[in-house]
Amino acid sequence: MSGSRTKNKSFSCSFCGKTRKEARRIITGVSISTNICSECVYLCHEVLETDKKKESEIQEKIDNEKFNNLLSPRQIKKLLDQTIIGQEKAKKVLSVGVYNHYKRIMNLNKTSLRKKKTKIKKSNILIAGPTGSGKTLLAKTLSEILDVPFTTADATNLTEAGYVGEDVENILSRLLESSDGSIQKAQKGIVYIDEIDKISVKSGRMGQTRDVSGEGVQQALLKMIEGSIVDVPKKSGSKGPNKETIAMDTTNILFICGGAFVGLSDIVERRLNKKEPLGFGATAKKKKKKLDAKDIVSQINSQDIADFGLIPEIIGRLPIFTYLHGLTEDMLMRILTEPKDSLVKQYKDLFKMDDVDLVFTQPALREIAKKAIRLETGARGLRSILEEILLDSMYDTPTYKHITEVVVDDACITDNKLPMYTFKNKNTDEDAEEG
Ligand code: ADP
Repeated sequence: MSGSRTKNKSFSCSFCGKTRKEARRIITGVSISTNICSECVYLCHEVLETDKKKESEIQEKIDNEKFNNLLSPRQIKKLLDQTIIGQEKAKKVLSVGVYNHYKRIMNLNKTSLRKKKTKIKKSNILIAGPTGSGKTLLAKTLSEILDVPFTTADATNLTEAGYVGEDVENILSRLLESSDGSIQKAQKGIVYIDEIDKISVKSGRMGQTRDVSGEGVQQALLKMIEGSIVDVPKKSGSKGPNKETIAMDTTNILFICGGAFVGLSDIVERRLNKKEPLGFGATAKKKKKKLDAKDIVSQINSQDIADFGLIPEIIGRLPIFTYLHGLTEDMLMRILTEPKDSLVKQYKDLFKMDDVDLVFTQPALREIAKKAIRLETGARGLRSILEEILLDSMYDTPTYKHITEVVVDDACITDNKLPMYTFKNKNTDEDAEEG
């Protein structure tokens, strides 16, 4: 027997050694010397299936552990507080929203719940708020707190597959990449879609609307948000018929959509003013009562959003709504210093690497906040303002080793004055590496 195997070596299974006679079938590999018999193919298949089962059991175990350790809304909010300044109501709404979302997912497979007829539907989230008020930051921070994959997309960049821009499948590809290719993880991730308010409305009542091109895109977006199986390229950006795809179920992906909704507060204000009594005593002044911006945003309802022009199908798929306030001077000052990775802390650390203490006076912080408000970019403008103020100091300090302290006061912002330097000793340029 073994002799015949040796003789017919090229026709024996490279795995178990069976000859062509002994095996039901032998499949020859690209290189003629590598063969596999049908029995070994079945065995390999079994091994792979067991692996797959083990993998999903491990994943389920991790999920269950996560559920047991799922943070309460209060704990989630507490962690959000470390990064996001203000926006108390939104943080509360989101903490409850994501808690319920993940509690629902974690319990989906529990038999006790499966027996019940009640189907708890997914609740995606809509956030309205001015540019730079923290919408993206909130979504991203939530994903970090819950340790789930995250990606963002811009509704205005979406195009039909095959056109320049981003197609809906590509968003999911990026989510898959951010979960290191694990489809199970990706299917429980968070996707933040910005500029949702720019999705076109048929009546076109919004002057500023930039249409998301075509019904096809909208339908694909709506289906994805609601929950569908999408063939997703394994690598983002890959196009064409030969791209390798994987089927992704979006049912348990949490979609958070955001937009500035410029003009929404006027709609709310008009509605609230209409409610004012028009009795005999009502004066014209009373009818046109000027409402506080904070009061207005806290009273936004889904009808206002429909009146604004967001397409009803989108509103229906985003049942949880919250809003972010425009950032005030005081909030911007806090954003500069309080979050755990605040900009001021980051720059202080950068300077400390060169043994320099960076100091901002309180009036300086106020002037920086004022400047950001003038730029109308919310907190987003803060970094570039700081970069500008600190450019010369960041240029000087690595060279002049005797600088021990850099102090930024309000004049650095109002009069473009250079920050003040404190030196180790008065023996000026001796330590300098260059002139
Ligand atoms: P939006 O998505 O609303 O346009 P972002 O979330 O992108 O704004 O905010 C831009 C940057 O501004 C964030 O990365 C963060 O550094 C800062 N920022 C904005 N709002 C806040 C906030 N409420 N608390 C702390 N930082 C904030």
